[in-house]
Amino acid sequence: MASITFDNVVKNYGTFQAIRNVSFEIPDGEFAVIVGPSGSGKTTMLRSIGGLESISSGRILIGDRDVTNVAPKHRDIAFVFQNYALYAHLTVRANIGFPLKARKTPKAEIAERVEDVARRAGLEKLLDRKPAELSGGQQQRVAIARALVRQPSVFLFDEPMSNLDAQLRLDLRHEVLELQQSLGVTSVWVTHDQEEAMAMGDRILVVNHGIVEQNASPENLYSDPVNSYVAGAIGSPRMNMIQGHSANQVLTADGQNYPLFPGCPDGNIVAGIRPEDIHPVESGREGSFQAKVQLVELLGARAIVSLAVGDRRLNAVFSRRELGDIKELDTISVSMAKDRLLFFKPDNGERIRLAG
Ligand code: ATP
Repeated sequence: MASITFDNVVKNYGTFQAIRNVSFEIPDGEFAVIVGPSGSGKTTMLRSIGGLESISSGRILIGDRDVTNVAPKHRDIAFVFQNYALYAHLTVRANIGFPLKARKTPKAEIAERVEDVARRAGLEKLLDRKPAELSGGQQQRVAIARALVRQPSVFLFDEPMSNLDAQLRLDLRHEVLELQQSLGVTSVWVTHDQEEAMAMGDRILVVNHGIVEQNASPENLYSDPVNSYVAGAIGSPRMNMIQGHSANQVLTADGQNYPLFPGCPDGNIVAGIRPEDIHPVESGREGSFQAKVQLVELLGARAIVSLAVGDRRLNAVFSRRELGDIKELDTISVSMAKDRLLFFKPDNGERIRLAG
């Protein structure tokens, strides 16, 4: 059992608090992604799990074991870093086998385990090459294989693909997930890329200024964010946020009226609507409003449509069928899917949940 638990963890660098009293649990066997902007504390959290940073207060548990004061090498953890630092003078085979050799594993067992992990990572034909004879993606795969060969209780990945091009990242994502699933080892992956987080995570921890804003499945983060920060951080294009005053089921913002629905909150609010929840409708339809098409970006089966409503820009995503012959500079009627509107407090971004 290797769940990971943060219990009121604080990490100070002098007077600066990089982790601000954070508690969470990552269940055994899950693939968790820590996502957040630069400087938000992702790496500090990851390094704290691995013991590469000592924490200022609180506890860290791996399984039932309190590892807060346990040295990194006794935590049974494997790291994959952004700078994968292979040994240049060793072959791929020796690089992958290195952690086993360091643990004085018998030679025959090393050979067997290296072959096995190399096969899973698609490296079996490259075992006798040196790192300089490999592409960047292949080198990164060797670094991952070197971490996997040990079969530790926990894998920690710190932006391991940021040096790779987009296609390679996609390929490696799938490979890492397949490997992780076949081994069932609890894993934590740090990235600043929310799309990568959504694609990879069983669970995502959205980090901001040293706190975890929300710790949930990708589906929950997307459909049920706890605040406007998470709502804006997850999803691409971003959720539209309309700040205004709501009364009698109409939101007035910058002189424009947006029909809402019975039961929505009155007062100063922020209404959030995802681009894919704005739809073109026939003119005059109840609950619709007029928008001018500024830009249409075709993306195969769907299009990102930038709409002007007064001075405000709203992003919409239309299917090709919805787009029909809508083109730039057209004025169209659109409506927001009422059951998909979310409301937030303007002062602190907290979600306003509707009764019933
Ligand atoms: P990035 O995506 O840029 O790597 P991150 O989210 O991983 O960012 P961290 O590296 O965890 O962020 O850093 C969190 C904060 O702690 C940052 O403001 C950083 O400047 C600060 N910090 C990190 N290490 C130290 C250190 N050794 N001394 C002082 N401050 C530090």
